[in-house]
Amino acid sequence: MSRSISKIIEPQYVIEGAGVLLRRSFGPQRSNEYDPFLLFDHFAFNDPKEGPIVGFPMHPHRGIETVTYMLEGSVHHRDSLGNAGLIGPGDVQWMTSGRGIMHEELPRRGPSGVIAGFQLWVNLPAALKMSKPRYQEVSAATIPFAKRDGATIRVVAGEVAGTPDGVRGPVTEIAANPVYLDVTLEGNAEFVYPVPREHQALAYVFEGKGCFGAEQQAIEAVRLIVFDEGDRIEVQSDGGVRFMLMAGARIREPIAPYGPFVMNTQQEIQQALTELRNGTFIREQ
Ligand code: FE
Repeated sequence: MSRSISKIIEPQYVIEGAGVLLRRSFGPQRSNEYDPFLLFDHFAFNDPKEGPIVGFPMHPHRGIETVTYMLEGSVHHRDSLGNAGLIGPGDVQWMTSGRGIMHEELPRRGPSGVIAGFQLWVNLPAALKMSKPRYQEVSAATIPFAKRDGATIRVVAGEVAGTPDGVRGPVTEIAANPVYLDVTLEGNAEFVYPVPREHQALAYVFEGKGCFGAEQQAIEAVRLIVFDEGDRIEVQSDGGVRFMLMAGARIREPIAPYGPFVMNTQQEIQQALTELRNGTFIREQ
């Protein structure tokens, strides 16, 4: 059964960190509606007149995984594990905060003055929330493409099956085992992607226009689409469309979100705050 659309979200402009303008589709909520996904932000600086960008100064995380995928511009980062570097166009950074990480993220404009990219937060199941923090950086050159008739699919995580060009993304050891694809459809190209029936599935349309879901509803950038249950997603491009496709098994646990922490109970949030005060939050240097 082809999935219908259950909800269409218009991302809202928000200022986060120290003056970072974002288009936020959703953030962590107790209702955990998009389980296993907790947050989806679109870095959206298009105009150098928008002013200086400071970024996200040193801040903690616990209980989540964050995925940063840049299209233009870059993010300078460093963290309490001793990692430091630059996430450039097409690169991906996948950070497993586990029991605790401190990091700094400083977006910088590309040559044309633009910053474009996405940050996705994926929940960790209770059993892994206090696991060892970990960090993976994937350079643009190692992210494979799958090509179909009029479709170019950049496979960040998960798989695009088929012969002769079945492709598996380089980001693998993520607890929720999600699919994360950057899909570009030309002209009137069609895209059909199988997703297990009970998995969460979302599409973020950020360029162009297409018809989505079983009812082939016309959706124009920029919108986040939440799909109903079903075993495949169908999209028909209308003059060209580009979207991020996210899918994954629901974790189905209660969550207690608090700023950069997402735990299962309020006591665990209190514990994190106590450790931050005591200076025992970070155990790895
Ligand atoms: Fe962060």
